Amino acid sequence: VDRLDLEGVSVSDITRDELFGRLRAVLDQRTQLCLGFCNANMLLQALCTPSYAAALRSFVLVSDGLGIDLCSLLFRGRSFRQNLNGTDLVPAFLVAETQPRTLFLLGARPGIAEAAARNLALVYPQHRIVGVRHGYFAPEETGAVLAEINAASPDILLVALGNPAQETFIAEHAPRIDARLLMGVGALLDYTAG
Ligand code: UDP
Repeated sequence: VDRLDLEGVSVSDITRDELFGRLRAVLDQRTQLCLGFCNANMLLQALCTPSYAAALRSFVLVSDGLGIDLCSLLFRGRSFRQNLNGTDLVPAFLVAETQPRTLFLLGARPGIAEAAARNLALVYPQHRIVGVRHGYFAPEETGAVLAEINAASPDILLVALGNPAQETFIAEHAPRIDARLLMGVGALLDYTAG
């Protein structure tokens, strides 16, 4: 099989090019896809927390890092074809995308998403940042956050709330979020902010 299956969590063994093709098709056809970068820590959390494992079932998961590669070697006798971590892959995808896309950045400490947006605008002038929102909101503010995202209707929603919060947020709200590609990106906004 071209994936690692553990306790209902399924991590695809696909190449970067295959993944990019799939993401591009989602954006072009205006369907929806939730993408997660699954490292060993995430997999362990999923194995220990059935509700997190259930949330991850609505995701396409790709393999991020050595730990999950070893896991693959152990459980299915081979390692993943490529390591697809979000910190490398998201910027690479945005570079490769010549078609203009709109992005909403959700997460990180106040001020970080704004700084990340300024840098993204310089590095990827073909794309447009249509909204930013920091990731420290109370549960009762979630409705307002979702309304902000939906008002912007981005092609791509980057969610940087850490694990497991980002995947839980995406899984819970994706059906009501007006965005095509929803990705849990960990510390990417911090890196991009510089
Ligand atoms: N983060 C957030 N809200 C929270 C907790 C974390 O926006 O309630 C952000 C944090 O500022 C950072 C990102 O989530 O930008 C990833 O956090 P961390 O590195 O702690 O999580 P990890 O990806 O290592 O699980």
